[in-house]
Amino acid sequence: MFSDLFEKGTKASSDFFTGTVWVKMLVTDEDGIFDTQVYNVVFEPSSRTHWHSHPGGQILIVTRGKGFYQEKGKPARPLKPGDVVEIPPNVVHWHGAAPDEEFAHIGMSTRVHLGPTKWFGPVTDEEYKSAVEEK
Ligand code: MN
Repeated sequence: MFSDLFEKGTKASSDFFTGTVWVKMLVTDEDGIFDTQVYNVVFEPSSRTHWHSHPGGQILIVTRGKGFYQEKGKPARPLKPGDVVEIPPNVVHWHGAAPDEEFAHIGMSTRVHLGPTKWFGPVTDEEYKSAVEEK
């Protein structure tokens, strides 16, 4: 069993995620001082975000397991603990677990005053399989 730094949090909505994903907010920035939100995300095997983009950008810091990051139209990037992903504003992408391994990252949404995440529908099983099978 893994011992996690953070509580598992709450189950993420199936409106925006495929499979079982847990989100624990660490910094909500309700008062807007930092213009940044920080959260821990745990993906069960094969679970993933829908396609989405962040108006203010996002940074991921991988803490355990094996996962993937893919920008629309590009090959998927395999991720391991210690990897850092810098996601520019408005780039459509997904992130999630490998088919047979749990995955966790810390996420930071930067410049959140620019607006909420935009969602573009599920990463289909076909899209997911072709992305992860290249690796
Ligand atoms: Mn993202």
